[in-house]
Amino acid sequence: MKRIGVFICHCGVNIKGTVDVEKLTRDIAAYPGVAYIENYIFMCSEPGQKLIKETVIEHKLDGVVVAACSPTLHEMTFQDDLVEVNINRHQLEVANIREQCSWVHNDMEEATRKANLIIKTAIEKLRLNESLYPISAPLTKKVLIIGGGIAGIQAALDIADGGYEVILVEKSPSIGGHMIQLSETFPTLDCSQCIMTPKMVAINKQPNIKLYVNSEVESIEGFVGNFKVKINRKPQYVDPDKCTICDDCTDVCPVIVPSEYDEGLAWRKAIYIPFPQSIPATFTIDTENCLGFNPIACTKCRDICQPNAIDYDKKPETFEEEIGAVIVATGFDLYPVEKMAEYGYGKYPDVLNGLQFERILSATGPTEGEMHRPSDGKVPKEIVFIQCSGSRDPERHNPYCSRICCMYTLKHAKLYKHKVHDGQPYIFYIDIRSGGKRYEEFVQQAVTEEGIVYFRGKVARIYKEADKMIVSGIDTLTGKKIEIEADMVVLAQAIVPNFNAAKLINTLKLNTDENGFLIEAHPKLKPVESVQAGFYLAGTAQGPKDIPDTVSQASGAAAKVLALLSNDKIFHSPIVADVNTELCSGCGICVAACPYGARELDELAKVAIVNDVLCEGCGSCITVCPSSAAQQKNLSDEQVLNMIQIYTS
Ligand code: SF4
Ligand code: SF4
Repeated sequence: MKRIGVFICHCGVNIKGTVDVEKLTRDIAAYPGVAYIENYIFMCSEPGQKLIKETVIEHKLDGVVVAACSPTLHEMTFQDDLVEVNINRHQLEVANIREQCSWVHNDMEEATRKANLIIKTAIEKLRLNESLYPISAPLTKKVLIIGGGIAGIQAALDIADGGYEVILVEKSPSIGGHMIQLSETFPTLDCSQCIMTPKMVAINKQPNIKLYVNSEVESIEGFVGNFKVKINRKPQYVDPDKCTICDDCTDVCPVIVPSEYDEGLAWRKAIYIPFPQSIPATFTIDTENCLGFNPIACTKCRDICQPNAIDYDKKPETFEEEIGAVIVATGFDLYPVEKMAEYGYGKYPDVLNGLQFERILSATGPTEGEMHRPSDGKVPKEIVFIQCSGSRDPERHNPYCSRICCMYTLKHAKLYKHKVHDGQPYIFYIDIRSGGKRYEEFVQQAVTEEGIVYFRGKVARIYKEADKMIVSGIDTLTGKKIEIEADMVVLAQAIVPNFNAAKLINTLKLNTDENGFLIEAHPKLKPVESVQAGFYLAGTAQGPKDIPDTVSQASGAAAKVLALLSNDKIFHSPIVADVNTELCSGCGICVAACPYGARELDELAKVAIVNDVLCEGCGSCITVCPSSAAQQKNLSDEQVLNMIQIYTS
C-alpha cells in the first residue's frame, strides 16, 4: 500500500476561518494509508514546500495529498516539489477545500465534514495513480497569424524579429485594419497613418514574414507544435510584378461602388487599390461588382493596361503550411447602427458612425480633412456626439462597455473644434471612463479649454426638421428635456467581434463568451492564451480595447509564442485516454464523440486507437464507450467508483 502524506493548508484564514483544521487533521490521520499528516498556515510558501519535501524523504512517502486551494493555482508548485525529491509528479493530488468548501460555506461543522470527504476522495484517487511521464512531440518553428490589423502586424514583427518564420493571413486586399482608417489617436493626437505605415512597410520588408492578403484560413488540423493549415487565396487578377500602378485602369473602369476604406462616404472603382499606402500596393478587381465577371464582359481595364498586367482567368489558390502555433487577431466591427432605428442612421445622411467621422477628419478622407457634412457639404456648426451607442444597454443592445468610446468621442469633439473654431460640440454620456495613461489629463484639458458641452443622459430619438437633425433627450443631472438642432450627429457605436470571423472561430473550435469575444485561458494570469493549446489571442477579437492595450497584448502573445518556439520539442500532459483492446469492440462510437479528433479506428485490428498528443483528456470517449474499453489514465473506473464510495458509505 502507498505511504500517503496529507498536508492541510490554512490559507491564512481563508480555510482555517471556516474549516476546523485541527479536527480535520485528527480525523484524516486515522484513515487507511495515511502515513503522515500535518497542517500549516501557507503550504505554498517556501517553508510550507520545504516541510512537504523534507517529510516525503523522512517518512519515505510515495504519494502526497495537499488539501488547499484550486489545483489550477498550485498543483504544479507541489508537483515540482515532488519531482525535486524524486517522486513522480502524478503521485500528487490536490484536494480543493478552499474554492469548493471554505469559500462557499459558513457553518464550520458542516464545512469541516465536507473537507474531510474531499480529502478522502483525493486519497482514494491517489492510491491507484500510476507514475506517468510527459508525452513529447516535434515542434514546427513557424507561426500563423490571422488578421493584418495592428494586433496581427505587431505580433508578426515581434516574432519575425525574434528569428522565426511567420505566415500572416489577411482577408482584405491590404493589411492595416481599422487603425489605418483613423485620423489622429488619443491622447497624444499623433496621426494614425504616420505611426501605422512604418509597421506596414516593415511587414513587407521583413524576410521572415510571408504575407497572404485576400486570403482566408480554410482549416487547421493537428495539435500544438504540429498544425497543418489550409489557406485559400482569392485572385486579385492583377499581376503585381507587371503592374506599374499607372492608374489607367481605374480611369476607364465604368463601375463605381462605395469605398470600404472611406466607410461608404466616397467611391471607388471595381478595379482599385484600397488606399494610397496599401500593403501590398496591388490593384484588385472586385469580382462582385466588375462587369467583366458578370455576364456582359467589359474588359476596359485589360484593354488599356499597357504592361498586360490583368488576367481575368486567374483562379483561387489553396496553400498548405505547417505551423507550430496560431495567433488569432481578427479584430472588431462596429455594432450595426441599423439596429438602432431611433437614431436615424441610414435614413439621415448626416447621422454618422465613429469610423465615418474619422474618415471626414482624415487628410486622406473624402473631404481631405475639411469639415463638411455628407448631405450638402455644409460646414456643421453644431454636432451632437452620442456615447455608449449600443454599449452598456443590456435590455436592448450590448451589456458591456466598449472601453474606447469615451476617449475617441472626446477626441472627435476636440479635433472638430480645431477645424471649426466657432463650432459647438455637444456630448451625451453615461459617465466618462478615462482609465489609461494620460487619458484623464486629455479629458480635463478638452473639457476646460475646448468649450465642449456635456449632457449626462441618453438620447431618445433623432428626427429631421428642414436641414437640421433634432436630437431629443434628457439631461439626467437636471432632469430637463433637451432638444438640440444639430447639423450632424456622430454615434460612438459599440465594438463587436468581427462579423466575418465567426465562421473561422467555429472552425478553429475556439471558445467565445456570450458576446462573441474570444475567451482567454485565465482572465488575469493567462490573458493572451486560449484554452486550446497552441492558440494565442491578440487585440479586439478578445474584447474591446484601445491601441496601447492592443499592441501590448499582441507583443504579449508574440512573447508566449517565442517562448514556445525556443524549445526543441513540445511536451503534452500524459493524462490522456487509453483503450483496453481486449474489451474494445471497434464500434467507433468514441471516434465520433472525440471533440479533438484524437481517436480513430484501426481498421485492421478493429479497435479504437488514441493519438496521445491530440487527446486533451476530456473524457468524452470514456462516457460513451459501451464496452468500458475506453479509460483515462489516472482516472480509471475503479478510481472513480472508489471516490464515489466515500460519499455513499
Ligand atoms: S473589367 Fe471590371 S474592373 Fe476592369 S474596367 Fe471593366 S468593370 Fe472595371
Ligand atoms: S479523452 Fe477526450 S480528447 Fe481524449 S480521446 Fe477521449 S474524447 Fe478525445
